[in-house]
Amino acid sequence: MVSVDNRWCAVDFLSYESKVHKNVHVIGDSVSAALPKSGHMASSQAKICAAAIVELLSGGQPDPNPVIANTCYSMVSDKEAMHVANVYKYNAEKQAMVAAEGGGVSDKASDIEGIYGRRLGRNIWADVLL
Ligand SMILES: Cc1cc2nc3c(=O)[nH]c(=O)nc-3n(C[C@H](O)[C@H](O)[C@H](O)COP(=O)(O)OP(=O)(O)OC[C@H]3O[C@@H](n4cnc5c(N)ncnc54)[C@H](O)[C@@H]3O)c2cc1C
Repeated sequence: MVSVDNRWCAVDFLSYESKVHKNVHVIGDSVSAALPKSGHMASSQAKICAAAIVELLSGGQPDPNPVIANTCYSMVSDKEAMHVANVYKYNAEKQAMVAAEGGGVSDKASDIEGIYGRRLGRNIWADVLL
């Protein structure tokens, strides 16, 4: 299964099907190193992957231009957090997800980002688990 840098799984970013093993779909931290490893990224990839599998099972084709978001907050004290945020768009020429303009990282840790981080966590847990 491992195929990029002898460490990560190479996938078709339209369906997250492995480029090594047909009909095996891979999401999350195992996907090739060019993308950030985060819970938000894993859940964004899961939605693209699930929609693509539904299309493929019903004779259709996956969305040719998927767009996903990643926002990752890290608590740096009991109240303060910092974030990294980017939108990624599929680039057909590179066959890769490429960061769109904008996004970036916090200038400094803050209490308000600590609140945002906990709320993002609650939203993702609700999205994934409920
Ligand atoms: C300290 C830390 C802080 C983080 N903070 C954030 C954050 O603030 N925000 C954010 O978005 N992301 C954060 N992340 C990243 C986030 O946790 C991961 O990117 C995300 O969990 C990846 O999901 P995954 O499903 O790919 O892998 P995992 O969540 O690692 O799930 C893989 C699962 O497979 C199981 N498993 C492994 N081997 C086997 C086996 N042989 N058989 C059966 N099961 C197996 C494991 O036990 C595990 O449950 C953080 C990660 C760490 C380590």
